Amino acid sequence: MSKVLYEKDVKTEVLKEKKIAIIGYGSQGHAHALNLRESGYEVVVGLRPGNSQVKAEKDGFTVLSVAEAVKQSDVVMILLPDELQTAVYKESIEENLEAGNAIAFAHGFNIHFNQIVPPSNVDVFLVAPKGPGHLVRRTYEEGAGVPALYGVFQDVSGEATELALAYAQGIGAARAGILETSFQEETETDLFGEQAVLCGGLTSLVKAGFETLTEAGYQPEVAYFECLHEMKLIVDLLYEGGLENMRYSISDTAQWGDFVSGPRIINDETKQRMKEILSEVQSGAFAKGWISENQANRPQFTAINAKENQHPIEKVGKELRELMPFVKQPLQTDQKKQKD
Ligand code: NDP
Ligand code: MG
Ligand code: MG
Repeated sequence: MSKVLYEKDVKTEVLKEKKIAIIGYGSQGHAHALNLRESGYEVVVGLRPGNSQVKAEKDGFTVLSVAEAVKQSDVVMILLPDELQTAVYKESIEENLEAGNAIAFAHGFNIHFNQIVPPSNVDVFLVAPKGPGHLVRRTYEEGAGVPALYGVFQDVSGEATELALAYAQGIGAARAGILETSFQEETETDLFGEQAVLCGGLTSLVKAGFETLTEAGYQPEVAYFECLHEMKLIVDLLYEGGLENMRYSISDTAQWGDFVSGPRIINDETKQRMKEILSEVQSGAFAKGWISENQANRPQFTAINAKENQHPIEKVGKELRELMPFVKQPLQTDQKKQKD
């Protein structure tokens, strides 16, 4: 098994002597900034004027322009949306870095796909929490943490690994366990996971099941419960104890159906397509397409999103959830980033 590190394995002095700039104050940014400060690190926040700026100031941070925050700091954690990082980096970060500084990321995309090419005199590391920012914050407040991956792309000071580990400790991840990775592995597995399984695979499975039942004349309400609502129970059981734990809780009839029908849904052909998706992630074809979609102002993204929001499962779901006050209301926009 790969080596998982905990608080006892981490030296914090090297980062305690430095000033950290957190660039962005969204899902990850607010959690990193608050947790690091409470762990005893010195933090400033770099932002443009706007909602996040107001929020960070309310939380008691010194908020500077991105350029100024970078100038004043030794370690710069870039927590902007991935598709905006390159532009902000070129405009406000690059020229303000000094030899011996470190830049850091919570996802390897822009470094791995050469969108950001760091100068050769700075450290470059990754601390990628395996959970959304609001969980990183909440678990920290509860005295626990979300596990994280860490990795080093460039080690100029000889201290990059220590910095990454201390940073992971500061956000609470060392309480839960930190595991070494590379920018390549983190980026490729993250993209594959969200496309094939967590987001893409799951939404397509749910919709196909719902459509099959409603096209056969069953009530959309019943189809919604069966194909979407009950998903949470199953996923909670998987999370708590893996496949066996989930199968222990469901009926033997459900378990028999799982055994005989599951492999007919996800079969060798599906796996073949997963391999194609993985190849496109590895070759950079997916990244290239997403970058040009953004450069063109997201025509397909916007069109598909509008169409998806009109799917009948969304309409019936909205009505049903209003009748179920125990189901939490959708998260506020700034809390919405649950997916990575
Ligand atoms: P969000 O979209 O939640 O937050 C982005 C932040 O960047 C906001 O505070 C926004 O402020 C600010 N911002 C946007 N544009 C600019 C700009 N031009 N100049 C200055 N500030 C700007 O991002 P996430 O936290 O989701 O993602 C950050 C990083 O973390 C990404 O690399 C992502 O892949 C990674 N990550 C995210 C996870 C998640 O669960 N969300 C999990 C693990 C990693 P404003 O209010 O002004 O728009
Ligand atoms: Mg059932
Ligand atoms: Mg992701």
